[in-house]
Amino acid sequence: MANKNMDIILFGMQGSGKGTQGRYLAEKNGLTIFEMGGQLRQIIESDSPLGEKIKGIVQAGNLVDDDTIMEVVKNFLSFLSGEKAVLFDGIPRTVAQSEKLLDLLAKYQRDAFAVLIKISEDEAIKRLTQRRVCEGCKGVYPPSYKADTCEHCGGQLVVRHDDNLESIQRRLENYKNETLPVINSFYERDRLIEVDGEQSIEKVTKEMFEKVDYLFT
Ligand SMILES: [Zn+2]
Repeated sequence: MANKNMDIILFGMQGSGKGTQGRYLAEKNGLTIFEMGGQLRQIIESDSPLGEKIKGIVQAGNLVDDDTIMEVVKNFLSFLSGEKAVLFDGIPRTVAQSEKLLDLLAKYQRDAFAVLIKISEDEAIKRLTQRRVCEGCKGVYPPSYKADTCEHCGGQLVVRHDDNLESIQRRLENYKNETLPVINSFYERDRLIEVDGEQSIEKVTKEMFEKVDYLFT
């Protein structure tokens, strides 16, 4: 059974496969996934005052500020059923956001451990320039997957148009400048579990399960 007080914050460069590994981790340990992009889309579609507020920010072409993002997290936590641990994906991206998130979790008597799916920058670039994405479910496929359709929904696999070298390097640069300091802060507090992301998907999952297991027993 999941430890109700221990949430997981998932980190990994783009191309690390953290979305897939996060789903496996959540399934195995009964975690509820909070995926930042999906949560924002969902709340914008809702009729709530918070949804209206975020819609306004996004339509004006602005970035959603940290305090509003924390309102989204708060909203999510308040609807969390029973004693469930959460897996955070796509948040926090910056040190400022990390501090706000940890403060908020503490208010709810929650605590968090970070899990990093680690790959090198070269590996990330290699994977990102060669991968394809399902038009249907947005599932990501590595070059080793040879079929043209998605094994989950049958959707067409296409190369993402924003997967050109320049935009990939810009995204990795952002990650290094903004998110790496967050990861280091978890490391300094002995709250970081590192998993070698350059193995096969199965081996990454296995190593991750083994290293995370003690948190949930
Ligand atoms: Zn699909």
